[in-house]
Amino acid sequence: MTAERISPLIDPFNRRITYLRISVTDRCNLRCRYCMPDIHIRFLPREKVLTFEEVETIVRVMARTGVKSLRLTGGEPTVRTGIVDLVARLRAIPGIEDIAMTTNGMLLPKLAEPLKAAGLNRINISLDTLKPERFKFITQFGDFNTVWEGILAAEAAGLAPIKLNAVVMKGVNDDEVIDLAALTLEHPWHVRFIEWMPFGEDGAEVYRLDGIPNAFMPLTRVKARLEEAFGPLEPADAEVRGNGPARSFKIRGAKATIGFIRPITEEHFCARCNKVRLTADGKLRLCLLTDHEIDLMGPLRAGLDEAGLEALLRAAIQTKPERHLVNEGIIPNLRRMIQIGG
Ligand code: SAM
Ligand code: SF4
Repeated sequence: MTAERISPLIDPFNRRITYLRISVTDRCNLRCRYCMPDIHIRFLPREKVLTFEEVETIVRVMARTGVKSLRLTGGEPTVRTGIVDLVARLRAIPGIEDIAMTTNGMLLPKLAEPLKAAGLNRINISLDTLKPERFKFITQFGDFNTVWEGILAAEAAGLAPIKLNAVVMKGVNDDEVIDLAALTLEHPWHVRFIEWMPFGEDGAEVYRLDGIPNAFMPLTRVKARLEEAFGPLEPADAEVRGNGPARSFKIRGAKATIGFIRPITEEHFCARCNKVRLTADGKLRLCLLTDHEIDLMGPLRAGLDEAGLEALLRAAIQTKPERHLVNEGIIPNLRRMIQIGG
């Protein structure tokens, strides 16, 4: 497909949409406390989940509008039966240049190699702590050693770059930011700290975790702590492929970068947004932190053709919010993070 034929997706705020995050399932083998709170979440019945054919159709149409990068997420993407096959099918779509995945890593010891062989380029693995006991506490069903093995398997398979995601929570794992950052001295793994994002009814469960009333940790403080420990961090945005929302830095002499994803405290965070999300039940979610979605599954199952779908997508992009309003107290409540995928 030639670049001239592509009429790009540009939203009303002049942001060009080139990146689609696809939640391939709302199910997960873990129950991370910040992602899936104790409220009862009912998983989607199978018939309410997009089929691989439907995902392919949506991606094919989006690729025609200039979307080049995909990220598969969940829930936990590796628990979707046939995930390796899906990667191969998406890889074959003209215009798709890059396929990444965000995973908790539990199944990577087995899947890293087949995923790479199917065409997955790179991977983000969630790792909030280096302490096995604490890992179990945060994820409830996770096993630190299995995930560590998964990271090594991803590296051995050639999934690169590897990025490790850590949600920083005050009083839970903020005492480990120096140890997590120090991984970049030993390994070519980019460590990315993420601000905890709030989801939930009238803010009732916001930032509350196992008796800690407010565990939100602004990452500005984390950066200051790292600079106390390692000296000034060098700007390194240019060094990371698929850098997305992170601002990256490097400890002098390190093998990889440290990224800060600050959706809550970075003033112009939304101005750099180039993405939209597809939920497992076929809704186009225009902003992670805003409850505004456009249904694609319904029209597709009612027989909408690809031209119609493209028109629907183009109209949907015109409704992408300029920014989220979490800091004004408008907290997304329609879904929890596990149902969006980050
Ligand atoms: N199951 C996969 C995993 O854990 O990597 C993919 C889905 S998970 C929702 C994607 C990312 O979102 C993970 O890195 C996770 O740590 C992060 N996350 C989950 N809930 C969050 C929240 N409330 N605020 C910030 N990040 C969150
Ligand atoms: Fe599952 Fe990922 Fe959420 Fe943890 S962060 S509960 S692994 S979806």
